[in-house]
Amino acid sequence: MTAQILSGKEVAQKFRKRVRLRVQKLVDRGLKPPHLTVVQVGDDPGSTVYVRNKVKTCKKLGLESTMHKLEESVSREELSTLIQKLNADADISGILVQLPLPAHLNATEIISEVDPARDVDCLHPANVGRLWLGDSFVTPCTPQGIIEILDHYGIGLKGKRAVIIGRSNIVGKPLAALMLARHATVTICHSRTVDLPAVAREADVLVAAAGKAELVTAEYVKDGAVVIDVGVNRKVDEDGEKKLVGDVDFTAVSEKASAITPVPGGVGPMTIAMLMVNTLGCYEYQHGLSEQGFGT
Ligand code: NAD
Repeated sequence: MTAQILSGKEVAQKFRKRVRLRVQKLVDRGLKPPHLTVVQVGDDPGSTVYVRNKVKTCKKLGLESTMHKLEESVSREELSTLIQKLNADADISGILVQLPLPAHLNATEIISEVDPARDVDCLHPANVGRLWLGDSFVTPCTPQGIIEILDHYGIGLKGKRAVIIGRSNIVGKPLAALMLARHATVTICHSRTVDLPAVAREADVLVAAAGKAELVTAEYVKDGAVVIDVGVNRKVDEDGEKKLVGDVDFTAVSEKASAITPVPGGVGPMTIAMLMVNTLGCYEYQHGLSEQGFGT
């Protein structure tokens, strides 16, 4: 079997277009466009690329964006003061604190200070709670992006066995909540899971989000399973060329899976597209334009 390629790039384009058209409609009605503000602490090169892409995408879709870059050594108090100031600014629709933060700053404490109505990452404890209660107006970007890819390609989750490798707060755990809400039977695996390949082989839908290059080999995959690769890892190939690889051995697994997301061009583009959706959703929530944010 050669797997169908699930192109996140293509699905992301659909959402970007929807956001662009809706923002244009708001502007045509004389309203200000949604405004995303990103707070970056320090100079982590990965974060710098992500932040730049987020700001660039806002511009392309007609959203306002601002960026606050703080020194690595910024104190908790200074960062809190900035967040309070952003919370009080009625023109700002979404606030994103780029992770990871330096070790002296506790991410959960900092994110708890962001106004939950502008928490575009859905990481505030109130929004995480609402997510598990099935009553949230935003959903986390990467997990929602995965759900949208599955929906786009008509891959249902009802009654399916889903196995997620990785239990982080930004991918594994919230994805489990979203998959449960779609009536999948969900297993979350992690670095201490015993006999990971055997658990993974139970999956109808297998999600790899461990951050370990090509961890998932053909041995992990049941014939005909759908495989979603969240991992982004830098690897040097046999020719000394640097390349991006996922958590899945794409070539080998493509022979066994029925469908698979590539890296790049899979989950990655969806994460940014969902951030744009959430910024618009927060704006509509704040302006009472829709009760459930951006229903897609
Ligand atoms: P993380 O480091 O916070 O969590 C990794 C999880 O994987 C942990 O729960 C850990 O227990 C588990 N794990 C690690 N090694 C394992 C192993 N050998 N076997 C089983 N489980 C193992 O990572 P994260 O932030 O969730 O990100 C995971 C990967 O997804 C990274 O490569 C990251 O770059 C990528 N990512 C991509 C996007 C995107 O938009 N494409 C978004 C977020 C994260």
